[in-house]
Amino acid sequence: MGYFRKMIVEDDFRHKGMRKRLMRELALLGIQDQNVLQAMDQVPRHAFLNSAFSELAYENKALPIGLDQTISHPLTVAKQSELLQIKPGMKVLEVGTGSGYQTAVLFHLGAKVFSIERHMALHEESKKILHALKIKAHLTYGDGYKGLPTFGPFDRILITCATAFIPEDLQQQLKPGGRMVLPYGKDEDQNMLVISKDLQGEYRAESHGKCAFVPMLQNRNPKKTNP
Ligand code: SAH
Repeated sequence: MGYFRKMIVEDDFRHKGMRKRLMRELALLGIQDQNVLQAMDQVPRHAFLNSAFSELAYENKALPIGLDQTISHPLTVAKQSELLQIKPGMKVLEVGTGSGYQTAVLFHLGAKVFSIERHMALHEESKKILHALKIKAHLTYGDGYKGLPTFGPFDRILITCATAFIPEDLQQQLKPGGRMVLPYGKDEDQNMLVISKDLQGEYRAESHGKCAFVPMLQNRNPKKTNP
């Protein structure tokens, strides 16, 4: 697993200082939800990256995590988390565990997190890191388009890869009164959508501006990939 992360779980005063600075930057960039900023302030983002990128962990950048995938940009994580409007105890489904960073932020917002990843290697790495950080989440290697019918319905669903259509199974797994946040579209033409399902089961969509995500791919990756 050459590319993958050497686990660094120490979180020293330098990391904490860089993180505080990043939180101030996110607030200046328009993030208003103090719960989101406090949750992100508790997550050592450097622990989710290969040690080669530690110095960049608290810059507002998306960074590679192997297998052509990226850990989302902190502003994107903050924006999606804010749009979700999570309350403690909510059941949240995340599609695209990737590094596990967003999973950790959802946990610190008080959610019961269920997360799906289609790459076995990323699924296994994120499991190790989250366990080392004592973050509890239900992680599954599978196809996010199908969701997790046995654990649903969910109060919130977050998709962290871009999809050109709204997955039917995920809509079904959203509770009435629930919200789903997803990057909708493909390549250079993506918009952040919030789909809300009202108590009668009717859906409403709102757009929250342009965004750029790696694509959501069909089916889980069948290979035990060695990057
Ligand atoms: N939330 C992640 C972002 C990872 S990037 C983080 O904080 O690091 C998006 C992830 O979605 C990638 O790891 C990719 O492998 C995964 N993905 C793409 N299509 C998928 C699908 N159909 N089901 C599950 N995961 C998928």
